[in-house]
Amino acid sequence: MSQSDQSIPAPAVRPAWEPSGHRDPIRITDVKAICTAPDGIRLVIVKVETSDAGLYGLGCATFTQRPLAVVTAIEQYLKPFLIGRDPDDIEDIWQAGFVSSYWRSGPVLNNALSGVDEALWDIKGKRAGMPVYQLFGGKSRRAADVYVHANGKDLAELDDSIIALRERGFRHIRCQMSVPGYATYGTGDKQETAKGAQPTPSYRLSISQDAWEPRPYCQLVVKMFEHVRSKFGEEIELLHDIHERVPPIMAIQLAKDLERFHLFFLEDVFAPEDQDYLRMLRAQTSTPIAMGELYVNPHEYVPVIRDRLIDFIRVHISDIGGLTPARKLAALSEYFGVRTAWHGPGDTSPVGHAANLQLDLSTSNFGIQEAHLFGERTREVFPGCPEIRDGAMWSNDKPGLGIDIDEAQAARYPFPEHPINGAWPEIRRRDGTVIKP
Ligand code: MG
Repeated sequence: MSQSDQSIPAPAVRPAWEPSGHRDPIRITDVKAICTAPDGIRLVIVKVETSDAGLYGLGCATFTQRPLAVVTAIEQYLKPFLIGRDPDDIEDIWQAGFVSSYWRSGPVLNNALSGVDEALWDIKGKRAGMPVYQLFGGKSRRAADVYVHANGKDLAELDDSIIALRERGFRHIRCQMSVPGYATYGTGDKQETAKGAQPTPSYRLSISQDAWEPRPYCQLVVKMFEHVRSKFGEEIELLHDIHERVPPIMAIQLAKDLERFHLFFLEDVFAPEDQDYLRMLRAQTSTPIAMGELYVNPHEYVPVIRDRLIDFIRVHISDIGGLTPARKLAALSEYFGVRTAWHGPGDTSPVGHAANLQLDLSTSNFGIQEAHLFGERTREVFPGCPEIRDGAMWSNDKPGLGIDIDEAQAARYPFPEHPINGAWPEIRRRDGTVIKP
């Protein structure tokens, strides 16, 4: 049969394998990208609507540094690709959507695909009358232990932050502290600069107090954990994120220096581009290693699992394409002793956190979930936002992902004005050299 044969139906919205007599399928009727920033963080949510009146699904497509590129991928490419398909065909739609661009596995297209994929799991759960974790095999635990972020400009502030979190029941705490005079990641000051504030023109190729230097940071982190362990003892689980900022051999030295503090994990010791150093690191220290929030491609994450080079896989689920690839990644990891620790900061939307939770609850090799304590406005926009109490994230056990979006509320919080549309300004060394963020 030739391509020009008029008998070939076009477009191929009904897979060839679909048996006759199949129940009358529902169809995808609309795909929308909803942009909202209730707490100032740019979020993108996909809403997939169906021919079954009132039945829709939500998915997270948040790539907060390039959200408008994701919106274009959803509205201009995935929407026409999806209209008319059966939302039950999650695997088939994921595989077809993945290759429909031919070039694939980048963060923009993966996020767009994730928004659709998670929405389809939401729809399937609603149709089944079950939470999505039931479709994944059911609960392996009552709730998902979370870690939260403590930070401070000095040890006293860090202590206060840890004490406040412990009083709220948190048992796993990430510690980050300002390096005096430097633009330190995760301390609540320069992180905000990176995520939303005005980029500083004087940053460019000038000596600035906002510069970053690796050695003062490495020295300070060891002192910080010496202090925290002596003050809070061994009962508290401690984590730290290097955020790929340190030259690889210095990061190996730091991982060795921190070994005696028995961290729960040390995160992003290297940039993905430098991950061949993991083999060298593993030969020298038993500090548990978490990697992966920057991974977007199986070529990055499969080898480090297969070769047992990490202890926690930490991808940002929307950045690898949604729940469909993430559940396969969790299953692969189980066979290599790698536990899950899905990326879960504020720029994973509440819908993304609800999706993370489905895997956290159903995955045997769950390790920990990063939590973000969303503000009141975000919780109003997203009814059903997962609840955090007693140091864990809990499901509301509603069908699907268990979360909704109030579109009228969402519309009240458009993306904030920003000179570079929310993109991250560069981080530089004292001499002006750009470094990884
Ligand atoms: Mg991180």
